Amino acid sequence: MARIIDGKAIAAELRATLGDECSRLRAEHGLVPGLAVVLVGEDPASQVYVRNKGRQTEEAGMVSFQHKLPADTSQVELLGLIERLNEDPAIHGILVQLPLPGHIDPEPILSAIDPAKDVDGFHPINVGNLYTGGTGLVPCTPLGCMILVKREIPALSGLRALVLGRSNIVGKPVAALLLREHCTVTIAHSRTRKLAEECRRADILIAAVGQTEMVKGDWIQPGATVIDVGINRVEQADGKARLLGDVEFSSASQVAGAITPVPGGVGPMTIACLLLNTLTAACRQHGLPVPDIL
Ligand code: NDP
Repeated sequence: MARIIDGKAIAAELRATLGDECSRLRAEHGLVPGLAVVLVGEDPASQVYVRNKGRQTEEAGMVSFQHKLPADTSQVELLGLIERLNEDPAIHGILVQLPLPGHIDPEPILSAIDPAKDVDGFHPINVGNLYTGGTGLVPCTPLGCMILVKREIPALSGLRALVLGRSNIVGKPVAALLLREHCTVTIAHSRTRKLAEECRRADILIAAVGQTEMVKGDWIQPGATVIDVGINRVEQADGKARLLGDVEFSSASQVAGAITPVPGGVGPMTIACLLLNTLTAACRQHGLPVPDIL
């Protein structure tokens, strides 16, 4: 039976460490990291995410600025707000909650964020830095995956990693981070042939496909570390919704060496890494060393 990687506990530990660092920054430098979150429209899931982000930001001793705009906000109005947030010295991190309403093109919006404040790590400059080994801000969910992997396997060099999924938000950046750690990385996607075979070769398997329990136990190399990024809301017979991952936990946990559960695995790491990025951004903007928290 695999070890369960407790993302909830690791995220809580990370948030507590960030809280201590924020107290120190405030006492020694009078610096209080500020995170602005912009929500356009009334998507119920996004409202929950934004509320949670705000609460956890304040609990860590940072300042949360929330900008809730009506669904009919224009692209120009949103760009105007981002410009003001870029200029505001109290704000060190800016996050625009996705998805945006259909009439707004996300690409120019994300590119308008000052790369130094881009705590989601989606700005093309940060994407480029990730691939070229430069100093930038790394997307939160991939960063969370890497913290979990490195807790489990401190020396990643030379290991075979398979990333299932090639999105800009999860698959590609997590593959870049694994490559940075000297893994031999394969990226699989919907056109990959002999997918189960590819997965079985991996020492580390990261599943980010958005397909409920697609990865079965017999797709996994015995002893492999499995990180399940998927969050799939599945309605049950009693009408209640349940969250399931992209990995079939019941069979996979019989074969893997270590595995993240859903919920309670990667999910809680995402907001903790958003706070970590905000602290990193605040320190860099003030010319202070970035605390070595990981
Ligand atoms: P996307 O839909 O953007 O990407 C899915 C990827 O999976 C694509 O590359 C797609 O391939 C591939 N894929 C889809 N179906 C198959 C299949 N049958 N076989 C092989 N590959 C397939 O999803 P995201 O990357 O945004 O998210 C992935 C999952 O992670 C979702 O469940 C999402 O909810 C979850 N998530 C969780 C987060 C967290 O905080 N824990 C944060 C972000 C996402 P192709 O490119 O060929 O179409």
